[in-house]
Amino acid sequence: NLTGKTAVVTGSTSGIGLAYARAFASAGANVVINGMGAPADIEKERAAIESDYKVEAIHSPADMTKPAEIAEMIALGENTFGSVDILVNNAGIQFVSPIEEFPIEKWDAIIAINLSSAFHGIRAVVPGMKKRGWGRIINTASAHSLVASPFKSAYVSAKHGIAGLTKTVALEVATHKITCNCISPGYVWTPLVEKQIPDTMKARNLTKEQVINDVLLQAQPTKEFVTSEQVAALALFLCGDEAAQITGTNLSIDGGWTAA
Ligand code: NAD
Repeated sequence: NLTGKTAVVTGSTSGIGLAYARAFASAGANVVINGMGAPADIEKERAAIESDYKVEAIHSPADMTKPAEIAEMIALGENTFGSVDILVNNAGIQFVSPIEEFPIEKWDAIIAINLSSAFHGIRAVVPGMKKRGWGRIINTASAHSLVASPFKSAYVSAKHGIAGLTKTVALEVATHKITCNCISPGYVWTPLVEKQIPDTMKARNLTKEQVINDVLLQAQPTKEFVTSEQVAALALFLCGDEAAQITGTNLSIDGGWTAA
């Protein structure tokens, strides 16, 4: 039960992030959602969380490439609700290209959004968590924090970095009743996956069906996509007292991908 607690979830206007926000709200937490999108769509999701779960939900427009805006997002949660008890660093983008053609600005954006934003968020949230003596930090890593795929140099680098950041933070906050873990999904059917299909078709010279079956689901022995709700349920478990001794781990939820 997360009643009285506040969760900030970055990149929660879509996909896995939205599922996390809804899961925490279903357990009674107030939530700060964050991310891009059409204002009317964001407002619809925000209002739905409030009416479905009888909690308060606000949106922070913080851009995860801007350290000052990330600190403002944490302050917004603390000033609105009195604390930020759960931080999920989830915002992420993908770009698929051979390394010799990989646009430099895409590399910089992926490192900023998928890796550095977690550093800035954790840096801002830890003082309050230490003061209150409780906290949960969850980072969305990826199967690509454990293994690589060709043409995803920036993403794989950022996700391996997230796995290292997770372990480091877990050690630093271990005696403060704050845990820090990362969750590593395999392929989840979200806009992030859908949008990379055209570039993967081009990079590998395949049809859409071949990309889905021979590249994406090929990686997962179960031959099924993971769902956002399954990922969110794991995050919710990590917020409970039962998970107080789970820290510094990288939890795979990937249909067996990284067992192979
Ligand atoms: P998505 O595209 O559905 O959602 C991404 C979210 O990040 C959106 O809310 C978007 O607005 C937000 N975002 C993007 N750039 C931002 C910025 N500069 N500032 C603030 N917000 C920004 O993608 P998703 O699949 O739900 O991905 C969520 C996380 O899960 C990412 O970190 C991704 O790497 C990770 N992941 C996804 C999969 C998958 O198969 N979908 C697998 C493993 C890990």
